Amino acid sequence: MTWRPFGRREPVLRDIDLTLTPGERVLLVGPSGSGKSTLLRALTGLLGSAEAGELTGGVTLDGAAPGARPGAVGLVLQEPGAGVVAATVGRDVAFGLENVGAPPASMPPVVARSLAAVGLGDLDLETPTSALSGGQTQRLALAGTLALDPAVVLLDEPTAMLDPGCAAEVRAAVAAVAAQGGRTLVVVEHVLAPWVDLVERLVVLSGDGRVVADGPVGEVLHARREELLDMGIWVPG
Ligand code: ADP
Ligand code: MG
Repeated sequence: MTWRPFGRREPVLRDIDLTLTPGERVLLVGPSGSGKSTLLRALTGLLGSAEAGELTGGVTLDGAAPGARPGAVGLVLQEPGAGVVAATVGRDVAFGLENVGAPPASMPPVVARSLAAVGLGDLDLETPTSALSGGQTQRLALAGTLALDPAVVLLDEPTAMLDPGCAAEVRAAVAAVAAQGGRTLVVVEHVLAPWVDLVERLVVLSGDGRVVADGPVGEVLHARREELLDMGIWVPG
């Protein structure tokens, strides 16, 4: 696809041809402004028509339109709290389920399972969302997406604004989701070392919104090391 959103003159994403295999884990990197967040939003179908601009070619997921089932594509944003929608932990995780009309009786076990999956199983459901650390807040956001049983989970620099301890908690939660299997994961991050063992594939966007490398993570890191360093991406030593 080529995409010129936000009423821009130049496309943000150019000639993107990306096929995600169900269950695979992908790290997406590129310099600031290269269109990583825009690409994730394209995958969720989140950009409204006012912003959508001109899209040549489309986005397909497993042959179906993204968002065909609500929650099929989950997105965790960079800013902790950006995705918080309720005053308490329990209500926040249940929010998506309520929105898709899940029967009330079916929700508690799903909420409990989703919180446990991200290491928040011990939190009281009445805990105010405002009392959580940044790392807990990001894991809460992940739990909220998991509650809807997503086929694809997109994480947009989920640890960029966290201290090292909280970042490690979030990575552990993502690793647990990965270990569960069955879901496609796409993670955007600038510091690659902590993620390379969690993904099979590395996709590199250039500053002008093109895919300039795409392949097995070890191969791409080896072949594109200098280019990645030039982009300000922290490549493992
Ligand atoms: P990245 O996530 O790789 O830093 P983005 O996808 O956020 O890149 O941005 C890609 C380009 O689109 C940038 O040039 C950015 O300025 C522009 N852009 C992003 N969001 C908006 C918006 N809401 N309105 C106008 N331009 C935007
Ligand atoms: Mg971004």
